[in-house]
Amino acid sequence: MNKEEISRIEERVRKKLNAVQLDCAAMPAGRVRFSGDGVIKIDGLRNAKYGELLDVGGVAQAIVLGLNENDVDAIVLSEEDKASAGMIVKATGRIVEVPVGKKLLGRVVNPLGVPIDGLGQIKGALRRPIEAAAPEIVDRGKVDAPLQTGILAIDAMVPIGRGQRELIIGDRRTGKTSVAVDAILNQKGKDVLCVYVAVGQKASSVAAILHTLREYGAMDYTVIVCSTAKDSAPLQYIAPYSGCAIAEEFMYAGKDVLIVYDDLSKHAVAYRAMSLLLKRPPGREAYPGDVFYLHSRLLERAAKLSEEKGGGSITALPIVETMAGDISAYVPTNIISITDGQIYLESDLFHAGIRPAVNVGLSVSRVGSSAQIAGMKKVSGKLRLDLSQYRELAVFAQFGSDLDGNTVARLEQGKRTTETLKQDIHATLAVEKQIVLLYVTMKELLKDVPVEKIVAFNAEFLTYLELHYPDILQSIRETGDISMDIGITIEDAVTECKKTFGKE
Ligand code: ATP
Ligand code: MG
Repeated sequence: MNKEEISRIEERVRKKLNAVQLDCAAMPAGRVRFSGDGVIKIDGLRNAKYGELLDVGGVAQAIVLGLNENDVDAIVLSEEDKASAGMIVKATGRIVEVPVGKKLLGRVVNPLGVPIDGLGQIKGALRRPIEAAAPEIVDRGKVDAPLQTGILAIDAMVPIGRGQRELIIGDRRTGKTSVAVDAILNQKGKDVLCVYVAVGQKASSVAAILHTLREYGAMDYTVIVCSTAKDSAPLQYIAPYSGCAIAEEFMYAGKDVLIVYDDLSKHAVAYRAMSLLLKRPPGREAYPGDVFYLHSRLLERAAKLSEEKGGGSITALPIVETMAGDISAYVPTNIISITDGQIYLESDLFHAGIRPAVNVGLSVSRVGSSAQIAGMKKVSGKLRLDLSQYRELAVFAQFGSDLDGNTVARLEQGKRTTETLKQDIHATLAVEKQIVLLYVTMKELLKDVPVEKIVAFNAEFLTYLELHYPDILQSIRETGDISMDIGITIEDAVTECKKTFGKE
């Protein structure tokens, strides 16, 4: 082939390429070919981008979710299905934005940021795109401050740090939502802002949560992003991203934020419904192949920023529902692998009256212990081991009646520890009280209190301390530590309290 021929071919190729580009440029708009169940297929619109916001006939908005050779797949965001075949679709060059900032505190909004609490419009708020890149590694700091949930079993054994992602996982009705809501309640006065994202929940459950948060004065620092089971799959799909954008605004302003995604199983189901309608090939459990990306890009946005970036943080508590305790199903394993640990709530424990029903053996926190305060570290160090040994012994003890003294003592102690860790719903405990209770347990000071009276004794003891030794609680609170002297005073106080316990 000589030079001339090559340049002739080059010329021809270039002409063809130019023609192709012209073709694209001539297609700024497309037309809806198919519309159904919140999903549309659009002919033309060759310049659309993944995730871009589309305007459908001026009456509805849609998000691009698939770029095919000849058409574009998108999901319609308006609540009623307003898009219909034949409508003109225009690309906007933007992605979906929601209002963010302080004006949202105390409000309940839908995933598009429209208020649904009847308290009027949110005017003049800043806006933020719902999808954003996660903070880079160099912009991240070390997780070094604890996020107290106020739940003794969790703060002692599966501590959560600010900026961490901790999964709450369990079967239905095992107290998952309650753990998350209590964690929000416990942030009162701690300068942590909260976002609760409801995905595909019953409207009545969200109303109940709103009621609880209002009752305990937690709405002052909380935003609820609500998509109910009645909402379309696309709205449920964007809800966590909207909530995350609201949290990000606070984080980049240097605040600590706690965000709850309740729950990501329903989120995955909404995404699966959309994917199947878009005729994507179903994979394991009929989920599409990119279901991992769905949650990883969301949870990566939780972070602790470095001091140079303002030092804000987003702590994420995603919730996942399992079927019959199967944590090795597709979505649970995916999310377990993304998060920094999990709190596993178990049906059997819940029904045996051990509430919160935390399974100590299967719950872990991979970064939180470095953020625990000194006093808590001292009193909780042995707890996990003691409890798992107790559970093991308890199984064996069922078979034989002839137990040696040591075994009996450990069983009795284990029972008392288990009782101490029981905690009523919405009865969060301040960290100094947690440390006192754990100190009493660790020193085995309650051997002579019957097991069934431990819960009552603990409650009375805390009241007793508040009344007679307020300086002890104050000192632990201020120093974050428990000294020898304080330990001895607590031991004396226990002896005194036992004398009056149950006599009034
Ligand atoms: P769902 O699967 O319906 O989302 P869930 O796992 O989120 O359920 P919750 O709704 O939090 O569970 O709790 C289920 C029930 O258990 C509620 O009635 C709640 O009041 C009760 N409950 C949860 N935690 C406790 C607790 N620590 N003590 C007593 N009752 C509790
Ligand atoms: Mg729930």
